[in-house]
Order: sequence, then C-alpha cells, then structure tokens
Amino acid sequence: MSRSLFDDAMQRLNTAMPYTDLDDEIALRVGTPKSCLEVSVPVRRDDGSLTFYRGYRVRHDNTRGPTKGGLRYHPSVTLDEVKSLAFWMTFKCAVVGVPFGGAKGGISVDAKSLSPMELERLSRGFIRQVADFIGPDVDIPAPDMYTNERIMGWMMDEYSTIRRQHVPAVITGKPVSMGGSVGRADATGRGAYYCIRELARKHDQSPSSTRIAIQGFGNAGQHVARLLHKDGYRIVAVSDSQGAVYHPDGFDIPSLIRIKEKTRHVQTVYCDKALCTSTAADQLTNEELLELDVDILIPAALENQITSRNAQNIRARYIVEVANGPITSEADAILNSRNIEVVPDILANAGGVTVSYFEWLQNRSGSYWELQEVHRKLQAIMAREFEYIYDLHHDIKTDMRTAAYVHAIKRLGETMNAKGTSS
Ligand code: GLU
Repeated sequence: MSRSLFDDAMQRLNTAMPYTDLDDEIALRVGTPKSCLEVSVPVRRDDGSLTFYRGYRVRHDNTRGPTKGGLRYHPSVTLDEVKSLAFWMTFKCAVVGVPFGGAKGGISVDAKSLSPMELERLSRGFIRQVADFIGPDVDIPAPDMYTNERIMGWMMDEYSTIRRQHVPAVITGKPVSMGGSVGRADATGRGAYYCIRELARKHDQSPSSTRIAIQGFGNAGQHVARLLHKDGYRIVAVSDSQGAVYHPDGFDIPSLIRIKEKTRHVQTVYCDKALCTSTAADQLTNEELLELDVDILIPAALENQITSRNAQNIRARYIVEVANGPITSEADAILNSRNIEVVPDILANAGGVTVSYFEWLQNRSGSYWELQEVHRKLQAIMAREFEYIYDLHHDIKTDMRTAAYVHAIKRLGETMNAKGTSS
C-alpha cells in the first residue's frame, strides 16, 4: 500500500527528532492535525445550472500562534494533500520564526474552467462556509496555487460583510488597495532568490556560470526566474503544465514572462524569432527538465515530482524547493547518498508567509510600510535562517532538510514546554 502524503511529511519530522533532546511526545502532538473542516460549496453557474464543489480547511497546529496558510484551487486537492500542506506550514512558520501555527485549505476545482463571476461566487461561497473556522486571531488564509490577490480581496470583503465590520487581517495576499502589503506578490520567489544567493555564496558559484532549470512558471517560478536573470544567472530551462523549453544560452526571462502572459504556455516561445535566434531551443517534457545537467534545479510546481523512480537520474548539483513537497522522503535518501544538496521547501519558499506576517502586522497597526522596508526585513530573515540551518547541517552532520526540521521542532518544543504539557 502506498504511503499517504501526510505520512511522508511526518517521516521528515521522525528523521529529525533523534537530533534533538526533545521528548517524543512533542512529535506525537503534531502527528495529527488539530482540526479539519470539509465543506460543500454550491455555485450557480452562468448558464443557470448548479454545481457543488468540495472545499477543505485544516488547522494543523496553533502552538506558536494563530494558524496560517494558503488556499489552493486545483482538481487534485484532497483532504490528505491539505493536511500535509498544513503540516508543512507549521514547520515553515517555525523555521522563519513568525508567530503563527500552520493551516491550509483548498477547493477541488479546475479554476481555469470557471468564468470570473463563477470564481467570485465560489470564493465568497467558500468563506460563508468556513467563516466560523477562521479569523484574524484564529486562522488566516492566503493565496496558493491558482488563487490570487483578487480572490483574497473577495474573501476579505465577504468575511467583513458577515462580521459587519472591516476585518483586513483575516486574510493576507490582498490587493494593496484593500490593505495588502507592497512586496507580497513576489515574496515567495524573492525569498527563494535570497536563499539561492546565500547558497551561491557558500559554494563560490558566480551567476554567469550557474545554469538553472525551473519546473513551473506560475507566480513563484516567474518571480524567482526574473530576479535570478537580473543578477546574470542563466535560466536554461523553464516549464509549465503543458511542457518545457530548453536553451543552453539561457532565456531572456522578461520576454518569456510576456509570452507566457500572452499565450499562457511557455512552449509558444518557438514562434518568437527574437528569443530563438542563435541556437535552436529544444522542447522537453516536464520529466526531462528535471533530469537536465544543470547546477541548480528549482521545482516550483506540484508535490511528488522527484521520487524513487527518477531520483537516480537527477543531474543537478543543488535543488531549491520552491514548491511544497516536490521530493518524496524515499527520493531524499537517494539524493543524499548522491551528495545532491537540497534547500528544503520549509526554508526556500517561506518568503510568502513571512511577508504575509508583515501584511497582518500592518493591518493590525493600521500603518503601512515602504517597499524597501519589506525587502530589507525579508532579506534579513531569509539570510539569517539560511545561515543558521546551513551551519547546523554541518555541525550535526545531516542534510539541510533534517537540519531545518530540527531547528523548527526545537522552536515548537520550546513553546510547548513553556505552555506545559498536562493536556
Ligand atoms: N501559500 C503560501 C505557502 O505555501 C503562503 C501562505 C501564507 O502566506 O499564509 O507558503
């Protein structure tokens, strides 16, 4: 029987526990989510018919504060997936030291198949179903795959209507005009970019000699590509759900982003003469992209992309997990034995939730920050935690993922012990 995604997520914690002197009960406490809500959301379609969608919100652990995590719209969303994503949020928040626990939510839907009006009805309908489960001091949703600031704006507005008061801090990732933070839109990609800069510094890797492949060209993938390209890194391959493109000289990322926006698929780059003049670019599958001979591989799409099936074929020297859970625990063991260094998701993609915390703080204080302040504070946190985890993995002689879990569970354990463990 194949292991559930949640069991696989727990495996990482079980691997980390022996490196701490914490009581095993601490791991037991985070071994099951605090609460799970499953709802059915009716949506009146534009043609007059009625469709019901399954939605979920899981609060994994609130030891360190209100629970926090995104909402995902994707046909593959299941309770098991949402539970795992909520688990990762608990550890992600602890890694960057923001005072939140972990949560996640989602709706099983192909968002691309809905009209904007249907999407709004679905988003507002979901909030009506979960309104008693969330709140600015309880559980604070945010964007994730196929959700965006527009959807967060509708949701905050719906929640405020239900509560009969303006409650901007109930949701982060809102439009700036509705109390969102400047710098939230590219925060996940930017946080990963700061980690890559630290990684390159550790290994004396210069931007122009670093070849990078990115699987996934959504919000996070595009921003990390844009920032790395600006520094002179060579982005030689990029993919989306339709397939990948490869060019040994590296792509001009701003043009590729324009093409993606216009045609929705990166592979249409082949029709663009300006981008493919010198050497012919190749079309690849997503699987082929993962196995390219590059310096850094950045999975920025879905979970379970590198498994025991293909881990042996990975040729990158470093992997930076911008997606949540792109590598299985079985694949971890194979990559470790091959000395491929992995910067784990709970560190590499924590920039999003960090700036969500900044947004929440601004909403609660009613005063708003400049973009430079957001960037400066995000950079300081990402560099500090990267450095700590990097040193720890050397000190305790393990991989960076295990070190990140050791760091996070120690922070969690400290709060649990301070609270007392009688209940
Ligand atoms: N969905 C993002 C994540 O997986 C952001 C969560 C948040 O900002 O609360 O980290």
